[in-house]
Amino acid sequence: MNIHEYQAKEIFRKYNVPVPRGKVAFTVDEAVEAAKELGGNLWVVKAQIHAGGRGLGGGVKLAKSIDEVRHWADEILGMTLVTHQTGPEGKVVHKVYIEEGADIAKEFYLGMLLDRAAEMPVMMASTEGGMEIEKVAAETPEKIVKVTIDPTIGFQGFHGRKLAFGLGLPKEEIGTFIKFASALYNAYMDNDAEMIEINPLIKTGDGKFLALDAKMGFDDNALYRHPDISEMRDLEEEEPTELEAKAHGLSYIKLDGNVGCMVNGAGLAMATMDIIKHEGGEPANFLDVGGGANPETVAKGFEIILKDPNVKAIFVNIFGGIVRCDRVANGILEATKITDVNVPVVVRLDGTNADEAAEILKNANIENIIAAENLADGARKAVAAAKGEL
Ligand code: ADP
Ligand code: MG
Repeated sequence: MNIHEYQAKEIFRKYNVPVPRGKVAFTVDEAVEAAKELGGNLWVVKAQIHAGGRGLGGGVKLAKSIDEVRHWADEILGMTLVTHQTGPEGKVVHKVYIEEGADIAKEFYLGMLLDRAAEMPVMMASTEGGMEIEKVAAETPEKIVKVTIDPTIGFQGFHGRKLAFGLGLPKEEIGTFIKFASALYNAYMDNDAEMIEINPLIKTGDGKFLALDAKMGFDDNALYRHPDISEMRDLEEEEPTELEAKAHGLSYIKLDGNVGCMVNGAGLAMATMDIIKHEGGEPANFLDVGGGANPETVAKGFEIILKDPNVKAIFVNIFGGIVRCDRVANGILEATKITDVNVPVVVRLDGTNADEAAEILKNANIENIIAAENLADGARKAVAAAKGEL
């Protein structure tokens, strides 16, 4: 689960990770009020969406007067912000963060995530702040310093020094930086975060470190022990079909292709996506209908997959282990009665009672249900069907 910048900064404050003063606003009037309360003569109006690259997309604006705050808040609230992370359809901005303008002397990057290979969290710093870190990693990887941190010993001075030396900080700033990084480590560990990104981390004219941007993502499986963080969930930022699927016990993730996938088991779902790509197609989604695969879940699965207008064919790939294939076949037939399935459906059922299932589907004689011999055949047929070649 991801949260907004203003929420991440709230958490930072709690852990003594220095951030500029700021207030969230849902309307233009609230934005103006927030700027007045903050005082000073320089503010930044920042669109709050779950995506980076807001500055380049026109979602972060500097204001030198209250009138300019009003102007930019009016401009940004309600706009559809397109950044390299939102996809071409962009995201509608429902709130802005009004923050005091900072005096930027230098910009750095500081981030933390879980290094699955090392089985430890890793903290990364770079002098190339403000840039896309993916670009830095691809083009000048030597400009990123990394330390893996063994959670049994926690964040130590030597971790901080390695990062500080990598950033080329002068001796007198190292202590302040270590305090900053150590506070960040606590914010990450205490909250079961998966990712923290501060881009840019700045040094101000008077030598202080400040997190100017803040992104945080959390391990969904640990949210149950962080009710305060669960409450930060912003449903407006999440894919509506993904939420609907979750409410029905299905794990669904929308993708960009045109072959809808209905599969039981996450591993088989991944393999199905791979083989569709292998056959030259693009999966439209990941969908794990779980172990049950009864008519209701299958019908709901069809309904959710078909909400995506890109879907031109559906590949049902179900392995009958605990659930018998004949039951699934009947489920599919039932489901086509509940939901209007208007694209070709390629069905591969294997495992317990696969022969009976094939018989059931054949006898039903429904025009847009196409039987597959095996996994590869199914993928081939689904890709061809999506191209209109079947
Ligand atoms: P994004 O990464 O989504 O573009 P940022 O929060 O990093 O959003 O803001 C973009 C840029 O705007 C920053 O790199 C920084 O130069 C500037 N900026 C952001 N917040 C402030 C602030 N409080 N004071 C001054 N400049 C800011
Ligand atoms: Mg940024």
